[in-house]
Amino acid sequence: MRIGVLGAGIVGVTTAYELARSGHEVTVFERRDSVAAETSYANAGVVAPGYVTPWAAPGMPWKVMSQLLNKRAPVRLAGVSALREWRWMWRWWRACNTATHVANRSAMQRMAHFSQRRLQLLTLELGLNYEQSQGYMVLLRDQKAVDQAQTGLALLRELDVHHELLDAARCRVLEPGLSPETPLTAAISLPQDGVGNCRQFAHLLRQQAQALGVRYEFGASVTSLKAAARPHLTLANGSNHEFDAVVVCAGVQANRVLQGIGLRLPLAPVYGYSVTAPLRGDRGHDDLGPRSAVMDERYKVAISRLGSRVRVAGSAELGGQPGTMSAAPLQTLYRVLNDWFPGATRNSQAQVWKGARPMLPDGPPVVGESGAPGVWLNLGHGSSGWALACGCALALAERISGRQAPLDMARLGRERLQA
Ligand SMILES: Cc1cc2nc3c(=O)[nH]c(=O)nc-3n(C[C@H](O)[C@H](O)[C@H](O)COP(=O)(O)OP(=O)(O)OC[C@H]3O[C@@H](n4cnc5c(N)ncnc54)[C@H](O)[C@@H]3O)c2cc1C
Repeated sequence: MRIGVLGAGIVGVTTAYELARSGHEVTVFERRDSVAAETSYANAGVVAPGYVTPWAAPGMPWKVMSQLLNKRAPVRLAGVSALREWRWMWRWWRACNTATHVANRSAMQRMAHFSQRRLQLLTLELGLNYEQSQGYMVLLRDQKAVDQAQTGLALLRELDVHHELLDAARCRVLEPGLSPETPLTAAISLPQDGVGNCRQFAHLLRQQAQALGVRYEFGASVTSLKAAARPHLTLANGSNHEFDAVVVCAGVQANRVLQGIGLRLPLAPVYGYSVTAPLRGDRGHDDLGPRSAVMDERYKVAISRLGSRVRVAGSAELGGQPGTMSAAPLQTLYRVLNDWFPGATRNSQAQVWKGARPMLPDGPPVVGESGAPGVWLNLGHGSSGWALACGCALALAERISGRQAPLDMARLGRERLQA
């Protein structure tokens, strides 16, 4: 089939690759001038399937409300502009019940494990190097955090995810750079999970896809999507393109094109920040940075090693604008970095980034039919797009090719959002 893919973030790039591998003739349209130029640009890079979970969870509304006035809270409302998202917030609130949470969590974790295996296979098979390292630790500063982590630990046991609760001394053996001055009671270690540079992977997979014949059109903004007998795209330059199938992977902007087929999904941008700074010196593991990735559970801030750089990422801001940087979340990132790895990085050379997680209110992405003939959806991956991308792409490519999906995808349909 001739297939058009709309968007070249990590989701579009992996989708195009898997479709080409299934023998289709694929063209990707991306309005920016390279792959992974928007939300997939500088995320934390963590791939930890046991921690892929919906943000709509029992008790979350109260947790968020009780921290509204705390500038350092992991979740923030960006002033009155957050009210624009009141419909989304209402749907999120309604999804914060146990039954919905458990069903969505299982669907997301099933896909995340499948995705991790696909990523590992592609990495080996294609010999890809994207600054990946193995090992992930969730740092628990005090006994209260250890007590609160018990539910999460029970879940990891239930899912049979290989993990260990380590005392502070053993954490410091795995991550010798951790500052002895910051109190640490324990950490959950996930030795099979890890971190990798999502943007670099996207560039490498683009090359592999091009070798399979995929065409990339950059600077190509899709202004209209129509589906009559066959799907049809119009670009800003006026050119028209007809395909046998189109896959919409447009992240946070998806609704602008989906209106052409009469579809509107409850998609909201949830902004986050990252700071990436070079390590001091270039002495491999002698430096003071992390060896792989850690997450500070109190502030929900991840610190990852990416080659000779360190990336610290976090914060979830509803409302706000793409271009404006808020001081408070950035201060939190620098402070958490300094708490755990003081002096490890050259912060004067840091790159600061803000990205918008394409978030659906109940958690899972939408991967499947759009309801319009020939138009498929792969979007709304929220805070876990890198961890989910390879699996969603393969499963969707199988379905588009007329084969059965390799795992149960019932919970990933758009129908669940139309109630
Ligand atoms: C601070 C932060 C930290 C994160 N950390 C992690 C993490 O550790 N692990 C993890 O798994 N996930 C993480 N994420 C989430 C992850 O980055 C996203 O889920 C993922 O990047 C979404 O990918 P995407 O391809 O759907 O969207 P995008 O990367 O935004 O790609 C969509 C593309 O579509 C293009 N596009 C849109 N409309 C059009 C149009 N009309 N015409 C042409 N092109 C169009 C856009 O230009 C864009 O390039 C993080 C996110 C943030 C913000």
